[in-house]
Amino acid sequence: MSVRGKEHLKVLIRRSAIQKRVQEIGKQITKDYRGQRVHLIGVLKGASIFLADLVRTVGLEVSLDLSSYGKGTRTSGEVKLSKDLDTSIEGLNVILVEDILDTGLTLGYLCRVLRQRKPKDLRIAALLDKPDRRLMKDVHADYIGFQIPNEFVVGYGLDYAERYRNLKDVCVLSLPPE
Ligand code: 5GP
Repeated sequence: MSVRGKEHLKVLIRRSAIQKRVQEIGKQITKDYRGQRVHLIGVLKGASIFLADLVRTVGLEVSLDLSSYGKGTRTSGEVKLSKDLDTSIEGLNVILVEDILDTGLTLGYLCRVLRQRKPKDLRIAALLDKPDRRLMKDVHADYIGFQIPNEFVVGYGLDYAERYRNLKDVCVLSLPPE
């Protein structure tokens, strides 16, 4: 596909497949929580496009919040929340919406923090999952868009140095040798 400098992009998941899968996840959430309210928490910035599409496919009473953490994940997975939640999640059905589940360190840590705030239920929706990379074996997503191989991907919210988030397809990015 297109090239910027010597960076090369190859489509991995087409926009039509993403839209179809997001609809399916929304339907599943609607079924799982029938008659209840869900509180979706998007993890910025990567999950913003997935969250925006997903929330419109959920046929329930929905509230939204956003969280953000700083770069520089440590091996413990401990991350600094650079934007905490705006409201309490106590007693709520929370779904944490992430772009990609990789080693699982970040989500493992975020879930530990959120569980201390006593939600009624806490689940994870991840657009992409790289199971081969998982270090935290107990971290799994309840709703997964696609399992992908161990490649660096961009697009549909995912970036490389803040670029490529606006690509409609999920693409594998190859960088030139240093
Ligand atoms: P984990 O803590 O699971 O290793 O890392 C999750 C975070 O790493 C994701 O939210 C994302 O920000 C980043 N990440 C992991 N794999 C990729 C990838 O292939 N592409 C991009 N753009 N970010 C990734």
